Amino acid sequence: MKRIAILGATGSVGTSTLDLVEREPDRFKVVAVTAASNVEALADAARRTNAELAVIADAGKLPALEAALAGTDCRAATGDDAQDEAACMADLVMAAIVGTAGMKPVMSAIKAGVTVALANKESLVTAGRLMMDEARRRNVAILPVDSEHNAIFQCLGGRDCDDVARLILTASGGPFRTKSAEEMAAMSPAQAVAHPNWSMGAKISVDSATMMNKGLELIEAHHLYGLPSEQIDIVVHPQSIVHSLVEFIDGSQLAQLGPSDMRIPIAHALAYPDRMETPCERLDLAKVGELTFEAPDPERFPALRLARAALEADASRPIVLNAANEVAVASFLDGKIGFAEIAARVEDALEKIDVAAPGSIDDVIAIDAETRARTSERIVA
Ligand code: NDP
Repeated sequence: MKRIAILGATGSVGTSTLDLVEREPDRFKVVAVTAASNVEALADAARRTNAELAVIADAGKLPALEAALAGTDCRAATGDDAQDEAACMADLVMAAIVGTAGMKPVMSAIKAGVTVALANKESLVTAGRLMMDEARRRNVAILPVDSEHNAIFQCLGGRDCDDVARLILTASGGPFRTKSAEEMAAMSPAQAVAHPNWSMGAKISVDSATMMNKGLELIEAHHLYGLPSEQIDIVVHPQSIVHSLVEFIDGSQLAQLGPSDMRIPIAHALAYPDRMETPCERLDLAKVGELTFEAPDPERFPALRLARAALEADASRPIVLNAANEVAVASFLDGKIGFAEIAARVEDALEKIDVAAPGSIDDVIAIDAETRARTSERIVA
């Protein structure tokens, strides 16, 4: 029986994880679930799974959570210590919080020797070197859930990257792949979150529309697989069937294919090193018919250029990139700035916020906080 903690249990990845583990009650036991503020969905998940601990980040919602869990054996809690406790009490933690908020519990899980199934890419983008060093020191497995990194993990088949020439991340191109820069500038939040292939949370959907998502994934891939920027390429593949590729030194390329359903990489991480069945639709290549590929356009999607430059600079740059992007995306979703302003705000932050590279998680948190404050100020002004 694998004991599972689901951080961000009420979100898109969290609910897909619940869907899978609830199908195999003899194999998985959910011990903890967490959320930001959605009491109803969190309590429902805790009740359904008989979880031992439910943690709500919004402290003001604790009484409502306690009331919703009355009569169960599940303890309701809030605060950083409770988040850490949830992350550390399992054999495997599904890290599915959105944004930098997910970083501390992931680090706590690694320090406690808990296997991490990592969806929360922002953790690696901001604290990748520190996390990977800690994971190596403690011999903790980090299993990638992001479909691209999971595809690469599967193609590598447990081997390291000694024989790898390059990694090729595929990108759908998002909902604005064929739009002009002028058309994109006028797009609304509703249009930006309407992803053609994947059903995801709002923040990552906007990141897909700007292609910052691929930029963050480039940095994530660098940390997971230890290859430099010049050995990680991006190719646009609108059908989202090939989830990424590995090219070896002899010229062979291996790819992982599947339908656009996050339950497949989630299932891979949950069951690893075994496999589990999923209810996902099977891929019928004859029905798909055509798989196409094209080069990304860094002019219309400046986020790609910004992310690559951040990866190639010192370790403070990805933190600034990520924090400015989180603030800018939230402001776009709130209707405060236009779509084209997202990348402009990130570029502005990268130019103006000059800080030393982090030596610790506390440094990462400080750079993140400073960038958020300064980016928010500029957006309010
Ligand atoms: P959602 O927005 O759907 O869900 C986010 C989850 O995080 C919710 O459970 C939310 O709780 C919780 N949460 C947010 N802030 C906090 C906080 N401060 N403390 C505790 N919990 C918090 O996001 P997704 O599921 O789409 O994405 C989750 C992560 O996975 C992201 O990092 C994303 O980049 C990554 N990812 C997602 C994919 C997808 O298909 N969705 C694919 C690949 C990667 P509440 O409901 O209460 O707000």
